[in-house]
Amino acid sequence: MTTIADRLSLAQSRIVLAAEKCARDSQEIQLLAVSKTKPIAQILAAYAAGQRSFGENYVQEGQEKIQALQQSCPDIQWHFIGPLQSNKTRIVAEHFDWMHTVSRLKIAQRLDAQRPNSKAPLNVCIQVNISQEDSKSGCSATEAITLASEIQKMPNLKLRGLMAIPTATDDIHVQNLEFAELQKLYQVIAATSNDIDTLSMGMSNDLEQAIAHGSTLVRIGSAIFGARG
Ligand SMILES: *Cc1c(COP(=O)(O)O)cnc(C)c1O
Repeated sequence: MTTIADRLSLAQSRIVLAAEKCARDSQEIQLLAVSKTKPIAQILAAYAAGQRSFGENYVQEGQEKIQALQQSCPDIQWHFIGPLQSNKTRIVAEHFDWMHTVSRLKIAQRLDAQRPNSKAPLNVCIQVNISQEDSKSGCSATEAITLASEIQKMPNLKLRGLMAIPTATDDIHVQNLEFAELQKLYQVIAATSNDIDTLSMGMSNDLEQAIAHGSTLVRIGSAIFGARG
């Protein structure tokens, strides 16, 4: 039987190997452990193995976990990576350290207004829709450029980069096309500010291709915590 610590270290090895293959420094690639739907005990197991950043998709569930672990694991960085309705922005603004799925000005404005002054600015990625599927959330490349310049004016948000969820496919050619498109857009936006250092792409099944296209943050769920029920 493999433990969470085993699977975490396996995921880290995949990152190191993928970085070597494209002559990148693996230190510049962060592993985000996606703990959505998984119990606190599993987060604690990953924490005990040295993991410090966790991703959650659902506001309520995320808030409960953050509050439950506040005392015992105060150095966890919490990333919100799910879709967010505007009536739930306050919970993200008050509890999370990162927000990966901003794709509308209204959401950014609310997060900026609701971020407590006692906290550091909320780290933000703009979610771009690079997939062929209309159903996927995220803004267009053109919208992302406009939104980026708006967010950069907001005092309580810190724009860190871009995020995307590509088409769900095993077709490596399609994955590569989409990652390449996001990488190109990232280079345009990164040229506007030194604060921009995060390209959030790659999951359990495609982290190698994402790293080959410049990902600096891979979001890994099932490869660490097992399949979700
Ligand atoms: C669930 C989820 C992940 C993790 O996916 P796995 O395939 O389990 O690694 C990554 N990013 C987002 C946005 C997710 O919702």
